[in-house]
Amino acid sequence: MSRQEVLVIGPIMPFVVERLKLHHDVVECENEADSAGFLAREGSRVRAVAVGLHGLSAKTIAALPKLEIIASFGVGYDAVDVAAAARAGVVVTHTPGVLTEEVADTALGLMLMTVRELSAAERHLREGRWQSEGNYRLSDGSLTGAVLGIVGLGRIGKAIAKRAEACGMKIHYHGRHRQADTAYPYHETVVDLARAADVVMVVAPGGAQTRHLINADVLAALGPHGYLINIGRGSVVDEAALVAALREGVIRAAGLDVFDDEPNVPSDLIEQPNAVLLPHVGSASRATRQAMGQLVVDNICAWLEGKPPLTPVPETPVPDCT
Ligand code: NAP
Repeated sequence: MSRQEVLVIGPIMPFVVERLKLHHDVVECENEADSAGFLAREGSRVRAVAVGLHGLSAKTIAALPKLEIIASFGVGYDAVDVAAAARAGVVVTHTPGVLTEEVADTALGLMLMTVRELSAAERHLREGRWQSEGNYRLSDGSLTGAVLGIVGLGRIGKAIAKRAEACGMKIHYHGRHRQADTAYPYHETVVDLARAADVVMVVAPGGAQTRHLINADVLAALGPHGYLINIGRGSVVDEAALVAALREGVIRAAGLDVFDDEPNVPSDLIEQPNAVLLPHVGSASRATRQAMGQLVVDNICAWLEGKPPLTPVPETPVPDCT
C-alpha cells in the first residue's frame, strides 16, 4: 500500500493518530476552523479524513474536492453532515458493534445508580452523614418487576434489554418501526411508551429527527414515580423541560450520560439532587476505545488500498470496489 496523506480534524484519541502514522502521512488540525488554512493550500489533495465526536461540516466537505472517505470515531455520527457527504459522493464510516456491550454495561450502571440512588447513598457515607444522621433513606424504586421502555431498540438497546431482563425487568420499546424479530411490546409513540414504563431508557441516535423527542409531554406521561435514563444523545432530551420536571416532581429522577452542549452541563441540572450525571463515559474503557480507534484506522486503510469500507453508514454511497 502506498503512503497517502490522511487528514485528522478535531480531537481524537492519540491511538488513532499513532496507528494511522504506521501506514500513512498524517496531518492534524485541532478543529475545523483551524483547518481552513491547510484546506485552502492542500485541500484539493486529501482523499481521507478521520474525525472525532465533533464531526465534519458541509463547509469543510466542500473544501475537499478529492475527498472519498470520512471515518468517524463513534457509532453515533450525527455531527457529520452525512447529507452533504452523500451529495459529494463521499463515504462515511462509523464504529458500530465494538462498543455495544460496554455502553450497555454503562447504561445498566447508570440505571441502578439512578433508581437505587447509589451515588446519593455514597455521598451520604462520604460526608459522614451515616454516623451523624443514620441510615440512608430507602429508595423509592427497584428494578425487579419494573417496566423498562427503550427508545431505540438497536444494537445497544437490545444489549441493555438483555441485561435488564436478567434484573427481572419487563421490556417495552419505541422506534420508527415495529421489529418482527422481537416479542417485546411495541409502542407507536414515545408518549405511549412512557405511560407504560417505570423507566424510559433513551438510546436513539441524535440529529434533527430525534431532537427533543423526550419533551414535557413524555415526561408528564412517565409520571412522578418514573425515571428517565439517557445514554443516547443529549439532543434527544429537551433539557429545560427535564430540569422543570425534576424540580417539580413531574418525574422521580433522571440519569444522564449525554448532554445537549457537551461539556457544558446547565448549572440548574447540576443543582438537581435527583439527577445522576456522568461525563459521556458510555464507551470509555481503554479496550473499547482502542477497538473503536482501530476500526477508524481499518476503514481508512481498507479504502486507500482499494477495498470496500468495513463499516459504512447507511446514508452514504458505497461505490463498487471490485
Ligand atoms: P442502532 O443499532 O442504529 O440503533 C438505533 C435505534 O434507534 C434503532 O433501533 C432505531 O430504530 C432507533 N431510531 C432511529 N431513529 C429513530 C427515531 N427518529 N425515533 C425513534 N427511534 C429511532 O445504533 P446503536 O449502535 O444501538 O447506537 C445507538 C445510539 O447510541 C448512537 O446513535 C449514539 O448516539 C448512542 N451512543 C452513545 C454512547 C455513549 O457513550 N453514551 C456510546 C455509543 C452510542 P428504528 O429504525 O426502528 O427507528
